[in-house]
Amino acid sequence: AKANGRGRVELFTAKLARAAAGRAELERDLRIALERGEFVLQFQPQIDIGSGAAVVAEALVRWAHPDRDMVLPGTFVPFAEETGVIVELGDWVMDRVCQTAAEWAQAGLTQRIAINISTRELAQVDFFMRLRHAMARHGTPAEALELEITETLAMEMEARLLDQLHALRKDGVRIAIDDFGTGYSNLSRLKDLPVDRVKIDRSLVEDITLSAEARTICSAVIGLIQGLGLETVVEGVESQDQVDMLRIMGCAVFQGYHLSTPLNEEDYLARFAPSRLG
Ligand code: C2E
Ligand code: CA
Ligand code: CA
Ligand code: CA
Repeated sequence: AKANGRGRVELFTAKLARAAAGRAELERDLRIALERGEFVLQFQPQIDIGSGAAVVAEALVRWAHPDRDMVLPGTFVPFAEETGVIVELGDWVMDRVCQTAAEWAQAGLTQRIAINISTRELAQVDFFMRLRHAMARHGTPAEALELEITETLAMEMEARLLDQLHALRKDGVRIAIDDFGTGYSNLSRLKDLPVDRVKIDRSLVEDITLSAEARTICSAVIGLIQGLGLETVVEGVESQDQVDMLRIMGCAVFQGYHLSTPLNEEDYLARFAPSRLG
């Protein structure tokens, strides 16, 4: 029994060592990919259904791995957050977004670019300074940027960060709460946060065409957000039936495959800012 026990322990530590090696390897791969410039951004529009115009482009990172299909962030962003590589990756995203947003503004586009900010990035003491440096480097107007902060992160934000977020918003950067409806919100806190818009998570809308209960919940959430004077954006919209129902509930801005998948910059501009090309 003793030998057996030790065997099990050895097996376990060997497994741990292998897992650790795999993790170290992935962390190294991510850093190398950054050095080699293998990350790319795609842009997904938020469409104002009344005018048909794109109002915001959400920047979404992808890893254009040389011998794999485009790797989606779900497979590396959580890991990058755990290891801290997200700080470097986030800096790269921030730099690319600030440059692109400056170029779009210069071309006369009024669309903002939204950037996803993770907990780990925001926890860096110099996060806001780095963002302001990136904006200064490229001459990015504050009005051309939006930050997406998840509901959970927004609810837990400490005073020091909130002050800086308030200041940034005062300068003209829009703030959006991401994935709303997936966390546990202290709803009375929502009204005190420096926020312009709330992105309603896909999980809240995926069943609205099938279930009356889903409709009731979705409609109540929308009413609450709009009652606080905040703009709603619905994420993960996959059908016209959803759009029709959500319009009746008072929503005007939609993001999702039904409107467009994320696109590279060239394709995005060709489709959502055609007159500005060339
Ligand atoms: P998110 O911020 O909630 O982004 C929306 C995700 O939903 C994107 O996945 C988008 O491609 C996908 N999506 C859009 N429309 C639809 C739809 O109609 N149906 C469905 N099923 N999905 C839709 P993606 O690009 O794979 O990104 C996943 C997550 O990775 C993002 O979720 C975000 O949390 C994170 N992420 C992406 N880019 C960045 C980044 O630059 N920095 C950080 N920190 N996180 C990022
Ligand atoms: Ca987002
Ligand atoms: Ca989201
Ligand atoms: Ca998310």
